[in-house]
Amino acid sequence: AKAGGKDKAQFFSAEMTARAEQRLYMEAQLRHAQALNQLQLHWQPRVCAHSGRMLGVEGLLRWQHPELGAVSPAVFIPLAEESGLIVQLGAWVIEQACAQIAAWREAGLPAFFVSINLSARQLRDERLINTVRECLARHAVPEGQLELELTESMVMDKASSNLLQLHALRALGVGLAIDDFGTGYSSLAYLNRFPITKLKIDRSFVHDMLEDPSDRAITLAIIGLGHTLGLKVVAEGVERPREAALLREARCDELQGYLFGRPMPAEALPRWLADQAD
Ligand code: C2E
Ligand code: CA
Ligand code: CA
Ligand code: CA
Repeated sequence: AKAGGKDKAQFFSAEMTARAEQRLYMEAQLRHAQALNQLQLHWQPRVCAHSGRMLGVEGLLRWQHPELGAVSPAVFIPLAEESGLIVQLGAWVIEQACAQIAAWREAGLPAFFVSINLSARQLRDERLINTVRECLARHAVPEGQLELELTESMVMDKASSNLLQLHALRALGVGLAIDDFGTGYSSLAYLNRFPITKLKIDRSFVHDMLEDPSDRAITLAIIGLGHTLGLKVVAEGVERPREAALLREARCDELQGYLFGRPMPAEALPRWLADQAD
């Protein structure tokens, strides 16, 4: 039994070492991912809850590595955040989003907004405003066509400097949405102190809304709260027609989820739009 215990301890420490090595390896690889063209943004449609018309897209980062395969952003974004690499990666995402807006415009697509995810580290970085301003100018992005998704904790954290950054972004005509709304801080006091334009109801509420009365109540309450504060409300993770129907009835403004479209490469979007029109 004693020997077994020791083996077990060794096994665990070997596993932990392997895991730490894997992390280090992944982090090192991530540093070169952008230069090696392994990163790509995929775009998921966001539709008007009432007309079904596409209003915009959310950009979601994809990493295809020759040995690791497709690495989930749920895995590599936290790594990039811990190492600080997210500031550089995030700047690349902002540039890609603005370039994509210009490319779709040149391809003759009707104007729609592009929403991207912003990390806390990026909001704290004082270069952010310049990065955004320069990208918007370089690609002649009209006001209101870029939207940034933040989390509740980012708006709460270090409130005063973040507040200045958020006001500067709004002054550039950038929309500000609170992502995963309802899962973070319980305080709602920040909502009218920050220049937010949208609430995005977390997928977990939408997903269980039909079966769980309390998730349904929370969803409806968020829609009511958002509207009272003059904000647009988005539901993410909409997978079933009955969810969409309930959200529409509750006057939710925008819907996003597999029911309408999965995240797709930029080239696939015109085709998706054409199929929608039929
Ligand atoms: P998120 O911002 O909450 O993005 C929504 C996630 O839900 C995406 O996962 C999307 O593919 C997935 N999703 C969309 N519709 C549905 C649906 O109907 N059902 C289900 N089950 N899932 C759906 P993804 O692409 O794996 O991204 C995971 C997270 O990684 C994102 O969550 C976001 O927090 C982060 N992320 C992705 N790209 C970026 C980026 O460029 N920058 C930053 N900072 N974070 C990013
Ligand atoms: Ca998001
Ligand atoms: Ca979300
Ligand atoms: Ca999230």
